[in-house]
Amino acid sequence: MICPHCGSKQHKVIDTREAGDTIRRRRQCRSCGQRFTTYEHVAPSLLVIKRDGRREPFDRQKLLTGIRIAAAKRPISSNTIESIAQHVEDTVLGMGRAEIKSEIIGNLVLDELAHVDQVAYIRFASVYLDFNDLAEIRAEIDRLMGRPVSEKPAPARVLSVQPIP
Ligand SMILES: [Zn+2]
Repeated sequence: MICPHCGSKQHKVIDTREAGDTIRRRRQCRSCGQRFTTYEHVAPSLLVIKRDGRREPFDRQKLLTGIRIAAAKRPISSNTIESIAQHVEDTVLGMGRAEIKSEIIGNLVLDELAHVDQVAYIRFASVYLDFNDLAEIRAEIDRLMGRPVSEKPAPARVLSVQPIP
């Protein structure tokens, strides 16, 4: 920042005070000697809106843990898991939103897992898509396998899943 009086970038902090989530700093310009005040606010972090409406800060570690659990004992390297989490995090933060629904994050992970491992996909889907019974799981598996769903159509909650050849 520059001094509002002379435009110099050289200044020193002579006083710092916290007021709630704002930090107020009194500064003195090293060029002209005038004093001015700056305020710092904490940038709000991304909030995840959960299914029940509660909100919690986006947690990279939690995302990683969810993928690890789904991928347990499957032939998926930890590098792949890390890169899925990284890609999803980049996409989510790249949206530039203050809040995001947990389903959107879940769908992004599913989109990636669908290309990597079908078992991990179904495990993850069973948590994120909140299946109610085996019929819903079967419908999702049918969809994943690219076969027509025999009974009621599967909920169209997965953004895009490539059919497995
Ligand atoms: Zn100045």
